[in-house]
Amino acid sequence: MIGIGAGAVMGGLLGWLAPEAGAAVGILGELFFRLLRSLVVPLVVISMVCGVSSLGDVRRLGGVGGLTLGYYLLSSSLALFLGLLLVSGVQPGVGVDLSAGEGLARSAGEVGGWREMVKSLFSPNLVSAAANTEVLPLILFSLAFGAVLTTLGAEGDALRSVFEGANAVITKLVHLVMWTAPVGIFGLVAGRFGAAGGGEEILALLRGLGLFALVVIAGLLVHAVLTLGALLLALARTNPLRYLRGLGPALLTAFGTASSVATLPVTLQGVSEESGVSAASSRFVLPLGATINMDGTALYEAVAAVFVAQALGVELSAGSLVLLFVVSTVASVGAAGIPEAGLVTMVIVFETVGLPLEPLGLLLTIDWFLDRFRTAVNVWGDAVGAAVVAELAERYDLLPDSAPAPAG
Ligand code: ASP
Repeated sequence: MIGIGAGAVMGGLLGWLAPEAGAAVGILGELFFRLLRSLVVPLVVISMVCGVSSLGDVRRLGGVGGLTLGYYLLSSSLALFLGLLLVSGVQPGVGVDLSAGEGLARSAGEVGGWREMVKSLFSPNLVSAAANTEVLPLILFSLAFGAVLTTLGAEGDALRSVFEGANAVITKLVHLVMWTAPVGIFGLVAGRFGAAGGGEEILALLRGLGLFALVVIAGLLVHAVLTLGALLLALARTNPLRYLRGLGPALLTAFGTASSVATLPVTLQGVSEESGVSAASSRFVLPLGATINMDGTALYEAVAAVFVAQALGVELSAGSLVLLFVVSTVASVGAAGIPEAGLVTMVIVFETVGLPLEPLGLLLTIDWFLDRFRTAVNVWGDAVGAAVVAELAERYDLLPDSAPAPAG
């Protein structure tokens, strides 16, 4: 954890002070990113099948699933509410000139819109879904596979133990890859800061959109510390500081990669091994959370829309704000857990609320920077969700008496 933190700080310094050298070491980060991503597909399938089949009885799936979705909805709504409150209070958009961006000529049709989002839940070809790291169809298939496996009784024992064995192997592989994390995170941060042109350029960027960035980062921080901290304490009866210590490597990896999905192996490791949350819960809650539960993205989408409306002098009615609330939730669910996916689904938010798409060009210039912060909050939200679901599922007797011990 200390090594990874030092890697991130040193990477930031190098990219900030010597952008060319920073960009040159970016290859180290790229390698780390590839290693992590190579684990994602087997990890999602194996941990989902193990997670569901370890529930023991397919009927438990409804209870745990309901709890999980309920938590996602609650935490995203709280994040959105906070974002809207902050952006309406601070009004960072008033007086901002949006014409500086290059403009973004995209249409919701191109991004896909609602229909495409629903269709993307199912893939006609699992191999191509795996090849493109489209995680949602894999999750749904693995869920069904694991659920049916629980109904087979003794006939399914051999397959279940194959999956448990594969899970142990993947867990060890994650450990091995994490040995390289300090260097990997160093390369990722240095490379990205270097590619952005170093400190001077980043400061110039922040000067233009500084108040907007500040509102986003402050909102993310308050949500992570106060809201999620309170949920962790109240619902999971877990000490947030101790939990945070276990999750440190995952949060730094999220900051470095800007991808919840690439961070998933590290999140799973942190939640089930360092923090002792039952494996049955974390294996189920985390893969799903990495793709559909994005508190930080939801907050960001809503703040960005209100910011642009303020800059254009457009008054958003109460009805539009309710619409914004709903569509930002949908857009955060639809955003893939990959870098800058939130900006893509923002097209849907803007079109639904009736804002022009051109200002997205300006947001694009700073998106890579804010993406790191919101991804870290997305991952923290998933981890808190795993603890909350584990505790509530145990309290209401939704998990089997002997949930398997964390692997490792
Ligand atoms: N990069 C984010 C994530 O992976 C998604 C986003 O762009 O908001 O969680």
